[in-house]
Amino acid sequence: MNILADNGAAIAQALRDIHHHASRAPSTGKVADYIPALARVEASHCGLALATLDGEVQAAGDAERPFSIQSISKVFGLVLAMQRVGDDLWQRVGMEPSGQPFNSIVQLEWEHGIPRNPFINAGAILVSDTLVSHFSSSRQAFLSFVRRLSASECCDVNEAVLASEARHGSRNAALAHLMKSFGNLEAEVEDVLAHYFFQCSLEMSCSELARSLLFLANRGVHPLSGEQVTTARDAHRVNAILSTSGMYDQSGQFAFSVGLPAKSGVGGGIVAIVPGQGVITAWSPPLNRHGNSTRGLAMITELAGRLGLSIY
Ligand code: GLU
Repeated sequence: MNILADNGAAIAQALRDIHHHASRAPSTGKVADYIPALARVEASHCGLALATLDGEVQAAGDAERPFSIQSISKVFGLVLAMQRVGDDLWQRVGMEPSGQPFNSIVQLEWEHGIPRNPFINAGAILVSDTLVSHFSSSRQAFLSFVRRLSASECCDVNEAVLASEARHGSRNAALAHLMKSFGNLEAEVEDVLAHYFFQCSLEMSCSELARSLLFLANRGVHPLSGEQVTTARDAHRVNAILSTSGMYDQSGQFAFSVGLPAKSGVGGGIVAIVPGQGVITAWSPPLNRHGNSTRGLAMITELAGRLGLSIY
């Protein structure tokens, strides 16, 4: 049964209730402050959106306000690389949960420069390397891809965030140089990092994000355009890695309590794929110690629980 499509009015009410409750709950967590441009973001923003395969988007709160998607961009980068590189990608990056913080360096050294999965920073930098190597302008290709998927020409990078990412990117540079030293990076480190920082600095709203990822809920076909964005097999693969590794080192707990493929970013966004039905996006900047939005987690957990959306 398609729970989301068949109960439109009840679901719109549930979204409003859940958002109302979450946005008034006492704030816990801390807004990301590793760069000044994120530390300035207002902690009280709170948005929730749900896109269904018929193209409808239901939204509550700040769902139309663009925010820094940060690590959620790793999903777009991975899909674009899978389109372009095919199965060879999996010779250079793994598909296992890391059990380590997203920007850890030690595991990469032990494992000879092969990142555990594409959703930790090392993995996304490796994916960025394949994009830089396969497109004459990887940043333009990335932006066009996201704009096409979201059906929004407005999606763009925030220049202040981009400048901050580059200025405070020593740890990501260390990961890139380590992979280069193991021969697992083809392009120049500077070019790869420029692409990686660019995609992290993209801003999108909850509604745009939910719409743009609908193809992952629809076996690779974007329901709005009819475009086959990935094969059904690759959509399955992306969802599988999202399920095991998309929520930093809280992915196991998220699978346990929610049961949906999902990705979060330190800008406070979380996207959750409901296979065969739609995509949920939540945004609220304060993060827990794992880097996941506290209110975002609360809203998605409540919505998935109420509607019985777990895939397990
Ligand atoms: N720009 C951040 C970094 O590379 C992304 C972190 C995230 O959202 O997980 O450190």
